Amino acid sequence: MSSTLALHTDIKYLKHVGPARAALFAERGIRTVEDLLYYTPFRYEDRTRVTHIRDLAPGQTTTVLGKVLTCGLTRTRSGVYIYDLAATDASHVLNGSPPARSGMIRCKWFNAVYLHKKKVFQPGQLVFFYGKAQNDPFGTDNLQIIQPQYEILPEPDATEERGPAEAPPAKRAGTPSGQPDSYGSEARPPSLEIGRIVPIYEAIGGMGSRVLRRLIWTALDSLGGEIPECLPESVIRRNKLPDRSSALRQTHFPDPDESLEHLLRFRARAQVRLIFEEFFNLGAGLALKRQKRKSATGVQFRVTDSVREAIKRVLPFHPTAAQKRVLKEIADDMCSPQPMNRLLQGDVGSGKTIVALQAAILAMESGYQVALMAPTEILATQHYFYTKQLLNPLPYETDLLISARTPAEKSALKRRLAGGSLHLAVGTHALIEQDVEFAKLGLVIVDEQHRFGVLQRYRLIRKGPMPDVLVMTATPIPRTLALTLYGDLDFSVIDELPPNRTPIQTRLLNEQDRTRAFEFIREQVKAGGQAYVVYPLIEESAKLDLRPAVRMYEHLSRNVFPELRVGLLHGRMSGDEKESVMEQFKNGSIQVLVATTVVEVGVDVPNATVMLIEHAERFGLAPLHQLRGRIGRGRRKSTCLLLADEPRTEVAEERLRTMVETTDGFKIAEVDLKLRGPGEFFGTRQTGIPALRIANLIRDQKIMEWAKREASEFVERPPSKQEFEIYTEDLRKTWRRYSLAKVG
Ligand code: ADP
Ligand code: MG
Repeated sequence: MSSTLALHTDIKYLKHVGPARAALFAERGIRTVEDLLYYTPFRYEDRTRVTHIRDLAPGQTTTVLGKVLTCGLTRTRSGVYIYDLAATDASHVLNGSPPARSGMIRCKWFNAVYLHKKKVFQPGQLVFFYGKAQNDPFGTDNLQIIQPQYEILPEPDATEERGPAEAPPAKRAGTPSGQPDSYGSEARPPSLEIGRIVPIYEAIGGMGSRVLRRLIWTALDSLGGEIPECLPESVIRRNKLPDRSSALRQTHFPDPDESLEHLLRFRARAQVRLIFEEFFNLGAGLALKRQKRKSATGVQFRVTDSVREAIKRVLPFHPTAAQKRVLKEIADDMCSPQPMNRLLQGDVGSGKTIVALQAAILAMESGYQVALMAPTEILATQHYFYTKQLLNPLPYETDLLISARTPAEKSALKRRLAGGSLHLAVGTHALIEQDVEFAKLGLVIVDEQHRFGVLQRYRLIRKGPMPDVLVMTATPIPRTLALTLYGDLDFSVIDELPPNRTPIQTRLLNEQDRTRAFEFIREQVKAGGQAYVVYPLIEESAKLDLRPAVRMYEHLSRNVFPELRVGLLHGRMSGDEKESVMEQFKNGSIQVLVATTVVEVGVDVPNATVMLIEHAERFGLAPLHQLRGRIGRGRRKSTCLLLADEPRTEVAEERLRTMVETTDGFKIAEVDLKLRGPGEFFGTRQTGIPALRIANLIRDQKIMEWAKREASEFVERPPSKQEFEIYTEDLRKTWRRYSLAKVG
């Protein structure tokens, strides 16, 4: 009999998983049997019917079963290695009929020396190949598949892959997919690979689909009978969802009559249930957090005459209607006894900073401290100078905490923070370090949210009893996504730019236009403007990529603009150097600033009217939009020049076209999301975006809205106290996976 495991059992206790495989799994965040079960197939192959090689048509994407005839490495005259394999049709194995000559197929892999070295293929092997059949341009009549995905069937007598000989698991209704488990027994053929709709998994550290399929089968089998339900019973019933147990089984090992088309679109009932489950849990967790916050008591600020007076003294301009509206939303939150947790969204240049500083004044006038956290040193430094200058007429102490400061400066600053004599601390991550203490922290402002994890946000919050939190972001997130991802936050949007901005014109240029582009810069500077010239810089290889920027700086200052004042700014300059360059650019003593992407975020020089971006085809849409947001901040007409190399990929072309066509951050974000997919759009896990396992933020938006509705309804009006408690108890465990904070 197979041993009985539980969902929470460490995966290393699963049969065929030793410490080595457990370590590979751990790298993917798979630690328990449950984690493994939620590692779902990204594709399925219908191997109930395999195409005969003879019947293949060029252009057809399908699975064939071949028997390897010959295989080996060849090298073309131009020195490219090609792994070349020929196979005859072996589809007779599936239906037990005698072999018939049924055609031959070639498979080719470029530069696949490893296939040779590791002796992956051998003549006589039975292999499933999946890919697109094409004519072979080099003569033979056979079709070929370039770089097919493949799965090698086990040798009929290979027992070692099946582990030590053991009695087959008892056959019972509870085995995965309800089919008799012939695989564990000595019976042939192995039912997991052929004669069924077969799940295909993304490989994990050398464990391919076949291994993963086996392990998941084993896990389902060892769990025995039912997998406990995790969604509330009433929700399952109302939404007519399959139970968890069958959803998991059917997602991994679908019944043969399941629609392949539905499976491939992730719309089979079983898959939909799991996607719903994931969004429901996320939605319920956020709803609970929100509920808890609404019932907590935080600081209650008061808008007094002195606050109004102070704000009036510092405001350099009339706020826009949008700024007034969001400030009121923020102030209302701050004056209510519940802690604020608000996301302030506004396109680059919409004037978020001044709104945040007004909130800061409200907090400080009430006798509380404020922390303002920015993602980079240069942005923190800039916020600091802006803040200090703006608050100059008021009696508040402001200081800057970044790692570039000397130990003595830092410890003096920390003492003042802990003692309460420092009112506003601007800084980077340094602000959330262990040894930073606040005497009376009342408001936390986090700029550029998408660069910080949710966890970091919470770490700063814990520095005060229950400070109000204002998160600012220029990344326009489609509203439905925002509601799900930041469902614990309230929303304010600045949807209007400050007045007197002339729209930015964007032009796409290529190398031949370079001289004209430089002439344009010269004209603009002569007319009193300033210009940025920006180079792409990939952080990991900063050393390598710095040189072109430096060289271009030398070229521009000596040869192109000898009569202009040209400056250089890059990420590896010291904090003081950067500051001094920025200061010179601000006061106009530098006219043309050559920079790497350090100017990406937050730099504010209204007199700059030209942004020339070199190798624009290499930048993503978000950075392009951010960079362009550095100009068009004053009354002068601004121009963004995108200098792009050719040829370009289709995606690069679409990015550039989008930039030329629109300056609307929301439109740009939507295109970006489409082009890159949510994972990349939001960055890595560290950004605090929950790691979804089966759900997909774009593909599954409808299910997301549905699940979120159900989750809020359930949390706000649970049908019974008991059901609510059972569910939330479970959720507490699941929630940890989203690496947010703990619920309730
Ligand atoms: P964001 O942080 O939203 O990108 P900033 O707060 O840096 O934008 O503001 C962009 C520029 O617009 C700054 O120079 C700021 O002083 C200016 N600004 C902000 N609000 C107004 C306003 N109501 N009227 C005029 N200028 C404004
Ligand atoms: Mg800003």
